[in-house]
Amino acid sequence: MFGTMMTQPLTISSLIAHAQIYHSGTEVVSVETDGSVDRSNWGTVGANARRLASALDALGVDAGARCGTIAWNNRRHLEIYFGVAGSGRVTHTINPRLTPEQMIYIINHAEDQVMFLDRTFLPVAAKLGAHLKSVRHFILMGPRDEEAADMVEGLLFYDELLETGSPDFGWPVLDENAPAALCYTSGTTGNPKGVQYTHRSTVLHSIAGNQPDGIAISARDVVMPVVPMFHVNAWGVPYIAAQAGAKLVLPGPQLDGESLAKLIDAEQVTLSLGVPTIWMGLLAGLEKTGRTAASMTRTVVGGSALPPSMIAEFRDKYDVDLIHAWGMTETSPLGTLNQLLQKHTSLGVDEQARLREGQGRPPYGVELRIVDDAGAELPRDGKTQGELQIRGLWIVESYFGQDKSALTEDGWFDTGDVATIDADGFMIIRDRSKDIIKSGGEWISTVELENIAISHPQIANAAAIAARHKKWDERPIVLAVPVAGTNPSEVDILAAYEGKVASWQVPDRVIFVEELPIGATGKVLKNKLREIYGDVLIDGTDA
Ligand code: AMP
Repeated sequence: MFGTMMTQPLTISSLIAHAQIYHSGTEVVSVETDGSVDRSNWGTVGANARRLASALDALGVDAGARCGTIAWNNRRHLEIYFGVAGSGRVTHTINPRLTPEQMIYIINHAEDQVMFLDRTFLPVAAKLGAHLKSVRHFILMGPRDEEAADMVEGLLFYDELLETGSPDFGWPVLDENAPAALCYTSGTTGNPKGVQYTHRSTVLHSIAGNQPDGIAISARDVVMPVVPMFHVNAWGVPYIAAQAGAKLVLPGPQLDGESLAKLIDAEQVTLSLGVPTIWMGLLAGLEKTGRTAASMTRTVVGGSALPPSMIAEFRDKYDVDLIHAWGMTETSPLGTLNQLLQKHTSLGVDEQARLREGQGRPPYGVELRIVDDAGAELPRDGKTQGELQIRGLWIVESYFGQDKSALTEDGWFDTGDVATIDADGFMIIRDRSKDIIKSGGEWISTVELENIAISHPQIANAAAIAARHKKWDERPIVLAVPVAGTNPSEVDILAAYEGKVASWQVPDRVIFVEELPIGATGKVLKNKLREIYGDVLIDGTDA
């Protein structure tokens, strides 16, 4: 056996071990649940993760056990990510915006043995407590708190628990294919489904996803993940930041635009990541406070379609590069990210901007294709729309607790998105397959209709949906939220579509609403809108 290379498993503990040694003094700043700011560093986070791991051993938490978290983005949550997975257990992040019934279902389905809770969510946990069959330990993420102790029987306190643990705990050598983290899809239809990431898939996602044309976090960055740590592991940013040794700013519970603008200035954030709704809030917050986010060079935006007008506003007013990305819980999540190729560097600003409106190209490690209803691959011509499928090193194979494969017969995962792919591999999401409007047999993209409405100066947000129609089966209508203090007319908004889409694609109605219903992961609930407005073209009423 001469001439071989070392074999080391790709484990999550290797990421934090690296940060603890090589970036120990680099700051981790955390806005706590009570609003105070906790300043620490990768050295402390690494040592605390080891303390936690040894304390979980002492508590008798089983090897491989799922440990739930219901928490904001903060320092203790970060330590839990590494301490739980690093010790051979599974970090199960739970979205607190789910209904109590969904939370009970998820926790029981995952058979969580431990539940880590931020103070905010203690009342919820106290209420759910009796229904949670598998949870042996509830742990409040903070110091001892007598009032909290009265709310949940046997409540443990994270800071006290850490004191019982050892900072010299040695990370065990684990199988890289062992599970490390678990996250459930938001489940707009049926019960939520769990996606269990392995050590290997997570480490590969962290390395390949962080190339120069990927998320590209460096040791000179100050990174603020606004995307919650309960939503696909904050897109992997905690792991990537550890591997890269970036300063990390965890914004806690205050995610309104003004709070974020203040935090960006205070901590000199260079890169932030989140969903478009958050950036709509940030734009409003910057406008209101007169701040300019001067330290910020770029933000990665995904989770739902990014309106092109937002890219222009960030670029022109604040000199911030909005980088569009696409992914899903099943894809860890990075599927694509939009950066240009060398041949595009000589194009003008507007042409470059247009290319960057789409969702972009896959990094090394994942492949995309589009197929028709029969599963036959469709051309990569940038025009033909089809069902988007993906495969790769960090893509789900089967859901948690299910024997059956989640893949097609030939090994691809069907995303449920409708997309085009061009000859260079640039992918554009045209719709969710269940949201797309089918008018007289022709497809109309809701994303395109929404972007046109949102680019109108008097429209703050918009959603296009299919309304039932006697002749055409479905016709597009748009629900639009006016900018505060303005009073747009339906005729004006409809006029904005002229010349931008084919005449048969112009919506039949624009209905003004005060707000759009938003689901647990920040996406507009179109099924709810279809329930309310789906018949307006048939019965002629607006609600
Ligand atoms: P989730 O698993 O909750 O993250 O949802 C994944 C879904 O969000 C995808 O299948 C897409 O439909 C949608 N999505 C994510 N990123 C984007 C994006 N950049 N543009 C449009 N839709 C997106």
